[in-house]
Amino acid sequence: MTVDVEEYFQVEAFANQVSVSSWGSFKSRLEGQIDILLEVFEHHDVKATFFTLGWVAKSCPNVIKKIVNQGHELASHGFMHQHITRQSQEEFRQDIQSAKKILEDVSGSAVLGFRAPCFSIRHDNDWAHEEIALAGYHYSSSSYPINHDLYGVPNAPSTPYRLGNGLLEIPVTTCKLMGKTLPAGGGGYFRLLPYAFFKFLLNKSLLSGGPANFYTHPWEFDPEQPRLPGDFKSQFRHNVNQKHAANKLRRLCNDFSWGTMQECYLGGDEYPLFDTWLKAANAKSTN
Ligand SMILES: [Zn+2]
Repeated sequence: MTVDVEEYFQVEAFANQVSVSSWGSFKSRLEGQIDILLEVFEHHDVKATFFTLGWVAKSCPNVIKKIVNQGHELASHGFMHQHITRQSQEEFRQDIQSAKKILEDVSGSAVLGFRAPCFSIRHDNDWAHEEIALAGYHYSSSSYPINHDLYGVPNAPSTPYRLGNGLLEIPVTTCKLMGKTLPAGGGGYFRLLPYAFFKFLLNKSLLSGGPANFYTHPWEFDPEQPRLPGDFKSQFRHNVNQKHAANKLRRLCNDFSWGTMQECYLGGDEYPLFDTWLKAANAKSTN
């Protein structure tokens, strides 16, 4: 169970309309949103991994303390939520190193995991996984092996694998149905699809070997958040079914057992090895 912790005004869908320099003018809604998630997880005895922005650790340190005080794992979502394809190698290095440092300073605990904003590690930025390992992270959950207009590396493996530099990459869960690879790992699809169908996809993905890697965001549980300017597609993806998201999450927590990334994946299992990210990213096309 994973949560990508960012403010509603920091999402990629509105990045063209909401500049980084304007973030300070928005009122934070994060604490109330996190409280909803923490209450659901506590009620269902679920421990989760919270991939959190360094920016959040700086602006809302009390949110970090709430997360770790309830026994959840704190991990990194970078500092400034910038798409990797818009960063130089040097900018990316500084971003993920400073995020790790502030998250560890504020929480007092080691941060082992990293998730790239918008799963933005693509075929053409092989240096990203090198930098993630060099920054001291043990695992990454930055690839989504599907076809999508904003992200996705469709030919990457759909189950965890280790890279030559020792980093473990843990893909978001997908499901094969009638020859197509469908997203089964959460996000907007979880709000959009009827719960019974999402549960069917998740169960089907578990048949080919678990655990499942599910992700959500705090802003998905806040139908009262201010509307941001954007095109219809972005508005729809961001806002659809937020009103019912908490109830769906309760059902998901009730119907499956969930743990942190460390609990589920770092227990000494052996994973397939790829020398480089490029080889992993093309794994299915060379099979
Ligand atoms: Zn994000």
